[in-house]
Amino acid sequence: MNLSWKLGRVAGIDVFLHPTFLLLLLLPGVAERLPLVLATFGCVLLHELGHALAARRFGIGTADITLYPIGGVARLTRMPRAPGVELLIALAGPAVNLAIAVALAPLALTGGGFAMDLMAINLVLALFNLIPAFPMDGGRVLRALLGGWIGRARATSFAAAVGRTLAVGFGVYSLLSLAPFQVALAVFIYLVAGAEEASVLAEEGRRAGAAGNVDWSTPAGYRWVQTHPGVWRLARNGSASRGSSWSGAR
Ligand SMILES: [Zn+2]
Repeated sequence: MNLSWKLGRVAGIDVFLHPTFLLLLLLPGVAERLPLVLATFGCVLLHELGHALAARRFGIGTADITLYPIGGVARLTRMPRAPGVELLIALAGPAVNLAIAVALAPLALTGGGFAMDLMAINLVLALFNLIPAFPMDGGRVLRALLGGWIGRARATSFAAAVGRTLAVGFGVYSLLSLAPFQVALAVFIYLVAGAEEASVLAEEGRRAGAAGNVDWSTPAGYRWVQTHPGVWRLARNGSASRGSSWSGAR
């Protein structure tokens, strides 16, 4: 079930707005700065289009783009496995924000105000997404760089562990400074880092299984089932489960 509202279609890709986006408007000071909030989400959308169009260049489609209060998600129809391709697709998003910041610079430095704020926001978006941890783009950059050296599965686990560690540190700090939005962001980063890791380990496990190797990422008596596109969970063999099962496809 898709709870998100469709905003429209850009470059042949459906763009959705998640209802939790409305929570953002409840934050103090946001309602008064609505034009800046909308411009920021335009920039987040362009960031996601950067990923989507870079992926398209390598023959990878994008199912849709959804905008959440903390950013956007471009759902690629498949994940690139070649490290060089993953690296370029991951860098395309932050590169868009850097380009916007550079384009705004002359206006920001002479006029200040709105252009200055939007330039600063784009710089933050670029730098935040380059943090070398899942689920940020930097996590994919890190995996692409490490993958050829220690293997894709271990590189993913490493980037996910960095993501979880940062999320816990950021979460504790936000809790102590009584910042509920930041606490929610930390919990989200923690959960998505784990989900990304589980999804990649399942994929690598299926590949190893298909190649006749030991499927070490699946415990005995369990199998991986896909509950949503790209979301995998372990289910006990023989138990009924939602989603399509891959046990027959190995
Ligand atoms: Zn991105």
